[in-house]
Amino acid sequence: MENCYARPNHMRKDIASISNDEKWKAVLERNSKYDNLFFYGVLTTGVFCKPSCSSREPLRKNVRFYDSPQKAIVAKLRPCKRCRPTDQKQNESIESLALYIARNAPKPLPLKELAQLAKLNPHHFQKKFKATIGLTPKQFQSACREVILKRQIKDAKSITEAIYAAGYGSSSRAYEKFDTTLAMNPKNFRKGGSSEEISYATAVTKLGYALIAATNKGICFLQFDDNESKLIQALSLEFPKAQILRSPNQKSDSFRLWIQSLNHYLEGKDNLRSLPLDIRGTVFQRLVWNYLQSIPSGKTYSYSEVAQAIGKPQGHRAVATACAANTIAIAIPCHRVIRGDGSLSGYRWGIERKAKLLELELKK
Ligand SMILES: [Zn+2]
Repeated sequence: MENCYARPNHMRKDIASISNDEKWKAVLERNSKYDNLFFYGVLTTGVFCKPSCSSREPLRKNVRFYDSPQKAIVAKLRPCKRCRPTDQKQNESIESLALYIARNAPKPLPLKELAQLAKLNPHHFQKKFKATIGLTPKQFQSACREVILKRQIKDAKSITEAIYAAGYGSSSRAYEKFDTTLAMNPKNFRKGGSSEEISYATAVTKLGYALIAATNKGICFLQFDDNESKLIQALSLEFPKAQILRSPNQKSDSFRLWIQSLNHYLEGKDNLRSLPLDIRGTVFQRLVWNYLQSIPSGKTYSYSEVAQAIGKPQGHRAVATACAANTIAIAIPCHRVIRGDGSLSGYRWGIERKAKLLELELKK
């Protein structure tokens, strides 16, 4: 199950390389990524904590840093009862629990039981898991199930058999899952999605022609070109087996609203967050796209920074590929990812459009 096991995104930094300023910043931010990398003691209370501890913010002059709980104890400090800094196993146990989930993904795994295994309360466990793995336990389990299901459905004798093997309690829930992840039911998935219906509308915008296409779940395609017919061609190439129809009424409510908010965005008034999206892609692509949606307007990240943030520090090329495969411009803001040296790198819809979008977002 390695392929759905996201590595923890905290860096295993060398303690010596973290400056006291960086440590103090981590304490102020209660940054759990630094947990177990160092500890801080408060001389006035005689207690030492992990950086993420929720206890009251101490005064800088009373704080000392230690690279192990032992050293803090030698300095006559007591472990805090709230963050239990001597319980060093916590990060490791989160990682091994992720492996446990991956191996047991087909079974029901209630949050309560997982939290018990981690010796944490469910709320704290969920938070800690998300900080370490990047997904909630439930999202992680469902990503693992999808991998199993996709793998099995291709060679299973019957679809029902594959669905049960992947751990979905009833086939209807798997159909639901497939509906939201692939926007087609398993039977169609096997056939290649031949009966899927996609409607679209085009509009003239500041960036040239835009084509918005949607299934009944939401927008699956938003792209730009100087030539309208090229856009329609691109849409049918993207969904070769779907039934593609121009929206019967170009002025239908949804399309009108979407085009309106696209134009508002291009005038610097809207952020396009509210559009319903029908996102398809591999688990990895969705991990990247999901992260891109969290990059605020006006900010840019490098491919390596995104790779680091999703817990794949070596994956900057894969991140670039996932950005290039994005079919929903702006709403999945792949334009906010640029090269490490600050140059814009490529853009599926032309580097000039990328530059214009970034300029627009900086002005907001
Ligand atoms: Zn504490």
